[in-house]
Amino acid sequence: MKKLYFGSNLKMYKNRKETVLYLQELAELTKDISREELHLFIIPSYTSLEGAAEETDRSLIQIGAQNMCWEDQGQFTGEISPLMLKEMNLDLVMIGHSERRHVFRETDVEENKKVQAALKHGFRTLLCIGETAEEKEYGISREVLRKQLIVGFHNVSPAYAKNIWVAYEPVWSIGVNGTPASPDYAEEMHKVIKECLYELFGESGNEIPVLYGGSVNPGNANELITKESVDGLFVGRAAWNAKKFNALIRDVRKSYNNQE
Ligand code: PEP
Repeated sequence: MKKLYFGSNLKMYKNRKETVLYLQELAELTKDISREELHLFIIPSYTSLEGAAEETDRSLIQIGAQNMCWEDQGQFTGEISPLMLKEMNLDLVMIGHSERRHVFRETDVEENKKVQAALKHGFRTLLCIGETAEEKEYGISREVLRKQLIVGFHNVSPAYAKNIWVAYEPVWSIGVNGTPASPDYAEEMHKVIKECLYELFGESGNEIPVLYGGSVNPGNANELITKESVDGLFVGRAAWNAKKFNALIRDVRKSYNNQE
């Protein structure tokens, strides 16, 4: 069975104690699933990161940060440097989540600086991309995704491709008011993304996993994973209860196995 990727961004939910308990429960519930077939990662809030990193069995669950500054140090009040994240021995850094782009107005050029810094510092880098409802309406989803990838990975050598993951999260699909993308639409966009990654990185681009995120739930997860270009699921609300996330992971794996 191919390795499937499952992850969740805890956003600004769960304090340190809740995060550690959640991670321990999730690790316990999923520990019988071979990590040759499952890549599981969780991205807690900054204040929970240290506890999460120290108290989680990292062979079962990888831990990542939600954002990062591109500079090592300096006059950047409120930012967190790659060196500070390195002290916590994290596995990955997420860059360009939809809320960073649209609530905090981060640009593709800034995401590129962060991507370059994260890769330079040895972090696995998860770049999130996705078009808005308006961009979809104008029929420019493909162009938007390509621009986010081309600028986001500007000046990134193919040698780094093994440390890159991409999450496709259409802005209109995320959160309580989101409408999940249909599995066919997700597949179409994942194909565009994979073609672009090949253009950017050559053969090594084919190895970059592309995850779908945006209102993934027990009702749509199984069909999404059967799509050829969907390598994993990046889940928000439906993952924040360890038992429910475990059940979703198991169900999805079963659907995937059945179609193989
Ligand atoms: C997200 O915010 O990245 C996300 C995927 O959230 P949800 O699954 O809750 O839509």
